[in-house]
Amino acid sequence: MDFKLSTRRADGVFIVDLAGRITAGDAVAAFRQAIRDEVANGHHKILLNLKDVSYIDSSGLGELIMAIGTVTQTICTSCGATVFKDEDGNWDPCPQCESKERKTWGQMKLSNPGRQVTDLLQFTKLYTVFDVHESEQEALASFSTPG
Ligand SMILES: [Zn+2]
Repeated sequence: MDFKLSTRRADGVFIVDLAGRITAGDAVAAFRQAIRDEVANGHHKILLNLKDVSYIDSSGLGELIMAIGTVTQTICTSCGATVFKDEDGNWDPCPQCESKERKTWGQMKLSNPGRQVTDLLQFTKLYTVFDVHESEQEALASFSTPG
């Protein structure tokens, strides 16, 4: 099956339904754009529904890692600028306003991974990096309230 992507909303969570093969090229580009759009629109809670995904290659996996990095980036509580760690792993103050108050921008979870995707995530030890749930219902319930 060719790659397909659509979005919908449930309980304040923005669900991205993915289907087919997430592989280098058009699929990865479309997925990247969808995540950018969600973040640009301020959608803090994103669920990737992988139910109909048949295959993810290393490019697709890399894009998933990029996506979670984008959504769960650390921002300044006062002005919203992205905050980074220094070389020793300590948090720098906000580059814009020098504030030391920071928070995580949003949450991203995965649901319904098929066999290949589950194996891939477990083999690469990414299963715990991504918050993976067996059902959409369970994933939706796991989002914490605003924060
Ligand atoms: Zn700031």
